Amino acid sequence: MNRIFYVNGSFVDEQDAKISVLDRGFLFADAVYEVSSVLNGKLIDNKAHVVRLHRSLNELGMAPPCSDEELIAHQHRLVELNNLKEGLLYLQVSRGVADRDFAYPTDANSSLVMFTQAKQLLETPAANTGINVISVPDIRWQRRDIKTVGLLAPSMAKQQALDAGVQDAWMVQDGYVTEGTSNNAYIVRDDNVIQTRHLGNEILSGITRSAVLRFARESGYEVVEEPFTVEEVKAASEAFSTSASSFVMPVISIDGTTIGDGKPGKVATGLRKVYIETALEREDL
Ligand code: PMP
Repeated sequence: MNRIFYVNGSFVDEQDAKISVLDRGFLFADAVYEVSSVLNGKLIDNKAHVVRLHRSLNELGMAPPCSDEELIAHQHRLVELNNLKEGLLYLQVSRGVADRDFAYPTDANSSLVMFTQAKQLLETPAANTGINVISVPDIRWQRRDIKTVGLLAPSMAKQQALDAGVQDAWMVQDGYVTEGTSNNAYIVRDDNVIQTRHLGNEILSGITRSAVLRFARESGYEVVEEPFTVEEVKAASEAFSTSASSFVMPVISIDGTTIGDGKPGKVATGLRKVYIETALEREDL
């Protein structure tokens, strides 16, 4: 079956899903995006993604392409048209098409494109084995709280990880882990303390992070929102990451040093289970 794409008001086949070379997303990475997961044909925690989209747009003074009601209706329609049961829905809003100039154009209309990707999210071998990561310097810009499509630095870090034979990289700034290339990073200390970096301009405020920290507190864990070092990761009893596409992913080594007993820990495994069960049950988490 051909995938159907959404481009500025139309649902079209891939060969017709086109935007201008003058689109500012293409020329300046002047665009923001969201990725929502789909389980059983249902968008997971999607309203929270729409709220974060607005925040990104606001921070950049970019106009929303349509109302939230329209956006969400288009998202549901795209999932339906593609008969997507499990996978991801990607949406991107750019400032639009204008002759190349650094200043924001005054007459451009923001553009909206969306597509789906079928992907196994629940039954992934990585969730059972855990993943290995390396640490790399965080060379990204200083507004990582805005979810822009300027993703070359994390792309380079991810490739460096793959070239080193591991699955991901955790980025480090001033001696402290910021986050993973496309996920938030956590350690578990003293069996019941979950530590993750505080929110700010240095990291993205993950939608999954917000839900998982709530589930963690409800399950009786102490949550500490403070930065941690790579040495602290090595000394932790567990480590894990969270994102809309991986939910909760156990991390079993960093820079070749085994974390805990080198197996997915009970905290990460338990939170993954709670997250998935709740996501299957509820519209919003
Ligand atoms: N940090 C970064 C840098 C990311 O790219 C992502 C995924 N978009 C996340 C964290 C996790 O965010 P979410 O839980 O909303 O997917």
